[in-house]
Amino acid sequence: MTSTPPRGLFYAGTWHETAGARQIICPADGAPVAAVAECTPEDATAAVAAARTAFDEGSWAALPERERGDLLLRVADLLERDTGVYAKAEALDTGKRLVEAHYDLSDIIGCFRYYGGIAGTDAGRVVDTGRSDAISRIVYAPVGVCALITPWNYPLLQVSWKVAPALLAGNTFVLKPSELTPGTAILLMDTLAEAGLPPGVANLVTGTGPQVGAVLTTDPRVDLVSFTGGVETGKAIMAAAAATVKRVALELGGKNPNVVFADADRASALDLALTAVFLHSGQVCSAGARLLVQDTIAEDFVDELVARAGRIRLGGPFDDHAETGPLISADHREKVHGYVEAAVAEGAVLRCGGALPTDPALAEGFYYPPTVLDGCQASMACVQQESFGPVLTVETFTDEAEAVRLANGTPYGLAGAVWTSDAGRAQRVAGALRLGTVWINDYHPYVPQAEWGGFGQSGNGRELGPSGLAEYRETKHVWHNIAPAPQHWFAS
Ligand code: NAD
Repeated sequence: MTSTPPRGLFYAGTWHETAGARQIICPADGAPVAAVAECTPEDATAAVAAARTAFDEGSWAALPERERGDLLLRVADLLERDTGVYAKAEALDTGKRLVEAHYDLSDIIGCFRYYGGIAGTDAGRVVDTGRSDAISRIVYAPVGVCALITPWNYPLLQVSWKVAPALLAGNTFVLKPSELTPGTAILLMDTLAEAGLPPGVANLVTGTGPQVGAVLTTDPRVDLVSFTGGVETGKAIMAAAAATVKRVALELGGKNPNVVFADADRASALDLALTAVFLHSGQVCSAGARLLVQDTIAEDFVDELVARAGRIRLGGPFDDHAETGPLISADHREKVHGYVEAAVAEGAVLRCGGALPTDPALAEGFYYPPTVLDGCQASMACVQQESFGPVLTVETFTDEAEAVRLANGTPYGLAGAVWTSDAGRAQRVAGALRLGTVWINDYHPYVPQAEWGGFGQSGNGRELGPSGLAEYRETKHVWHNIAPAPQHWFAS
């Protein structure tokens, strides 16, 4: 019997073999999921070459945008047809509940439909030159070859936010998904081909950041790097890309404030404070991991929150009773636990969680319980740094000015919320928060029509919405003199 070689290296429209392989395991129970190609720097270089050739010599960039949009709509239909396969692959790679993987698939399909739907609606503009003999137009061109580098928490969702606008704008790309969760990126290559994408437009390399990701950030044939991941990696990528002046778009971490005033609808604020931070066990870039609660209600509010956090049920993708899943890896769990221990050492009060689960049913997975750290101060490392786990820090404030000051008091600026029944205060605070997304009396919803991205060290550029497409377009000015005549600027 011949075994199929591990997939993961795809370029010029074909799957290629490479020597190395990596075993992907399910974080919920450590069970093997699949063997995936562990690509080399040479593989990454070959994928870039294919993307470059397809861009320079292929037909994709020259197609009418409407036709590229139609392809995205076909991709959406195929993803809908294959939702079950994709959702299962995503749940196994990440350990998240199958139902959550299905929600993600619905968002992914929505992203392809959004960009497919806006195709051809913005072809640039005509500029008034003030002259009757000149026509001036602003038009768009694709940036070229894009390196798309993505994390493990929402694997295909993060991929779709990049792939859909990159394709609509007429680019070619090399995708490098997280080495921990490559399953759905591999499936996507087949789906794009089935939808009719020409060979070489979509290319994939699986493997680690230092091995293959880094090649994509330095190869001079790459024009743009769009990266979602941690801040330190983002800084390294920005520095690496500087040598060839690539465009860089960064979607990085956050330490997102969830601000609750005493006049908020208590039941909703409390319920969503839990969802804000413990959804996907806190492995969400926009997790509301910093609760800022007005001092007059803090004690009761936090007591009830702690009681409810302690009842959250952990379990794997196919456990119908589970409410959230494991962390992505043993390493990551160790990091999160170290963060909690350091927080306690610097004075935070551990109200719940903070220890590995003892339930034998969870013993094989990388579970960590919802953890609440009370009595935190703005200066503490646990308030300033992202844990990317199920850990909530609690601070109190006395008035609106202090709430805004504390909320803005980290180097990050991705997302956050304000809870109040005073519409004026809601708007004032939303205006004052230095965040890419502000929710008022809500937490987490987003739509593909609305931009996503961060202020400060949460990144630069925007994904989703019209700005998410603009990232993948060059803007070009075309001036046409329709009655050329000598100017005689120089006399002879
Ligand atoms: P990470 O930075 O470790 O890795 C992200 C990707 O970069 C992976 O594919 C990795 O292999 C690759 N990579 C690592 N080093 C590289 C290098 N030197 N050159 C090129 N590529 C390299 O992040 P992660 O642990 O996968 O994801 C978690 C982080 O992502 C968190 O900080 C989270 O906040 C952030 N995140 C942000 C958003 C957002 O929209 N702002 C969304 C999801 C996740």
